[in-house]
Amino acid sequence: MKKILLLALAAVMCAGLASCGSKTEVENTDKTYVIYSDNAFAPFEYLDAASGEYVGVDMDILAAVAEDQGFKYEVKNEGFDASMGAVQSGQADGMIAGMTINDERKLIFDFSDGYFEDGQIMVVKKGSDIKAEADLAGKSVATKIGTMGTDYAMSICDTIGFDTVNYEDSPTMYTAIENGTNVACFEDRSVVEWAIKEENLDLETVGEVINPKEYGFAVKKGENPELIEMFNAGLKNIRESGKYDEILAKYGY
Ligand code: GLN
Repeated sequence: MKKILLLALAAVMCAGLASCGSKTEVENTDKTYVIYSDNAFAPFEYLDAASGEYVGVDMDILAAVAEDQGFKYEVKNEGFDASMGAVQSGQADGMIAGMTINDERKLIFDFSDGYFEDGQIMVVKKGSDIKAEADLAGKSVATKIGTMGTDYAMSICDTIGFDTVNYEDSPTMYTAIENGTNVACFEDRSVVEWAIKEENLDLETVGEVINPKEYGFAVKKGENPELIEMFNAGLKNIRESGKYDEILAKYGY
């Protein structure tokens, strides 16, 4: 009898403590935000074979921001286009996926402040005779659905005269170039450079970085405004505390 009473008392005390300790607004105290991400976009998010966990700059920044702001979340690494779809359909509360902030996307997403800058670069097979965009005439270019690299390829394909083939993710696109199915793609510079170095890919970059812009955390336009506020506040805090620099340094920046 006494034991049951004590247990009940402990439960009441715990419940009290949990709500007092929370930093988030009352209505969101117990909410677990569902955040979608890319599934193969190192160094921003990728499966670490040793731990079986997704790691990377985005995963670490999200974890640090959530800890700083005291919100709960779970990540689903489903791919880039799938993430954009999940946010738009309301299946996801937000996404972090090396996603470039641009005006077109601002029509349907709200973005956080930028946390990393990158642009796209042309990628070909090592030793390829494709030395400039004009050499793509009459050839076939690999594109990854929904990305800035795809937008860029589509913006020049008619003028130069090349075909495009869509792929779901970055690794498949790289393989298509390595095996000669396609001659080139346009990919975020830091991502393809990481892949070439860390995975020893038979690829090289050509020319200059196109369209450098900031990456941001995104929610569906008008939804979850508190999530953007918390992300921005947390990002500011981790920049000030040195945690942000520590995360980037861990991945070689
Ligand atoms: N930064 C690029 C974009 O936003 C690519 C993102 C990605 O493939 N995960 O379109």
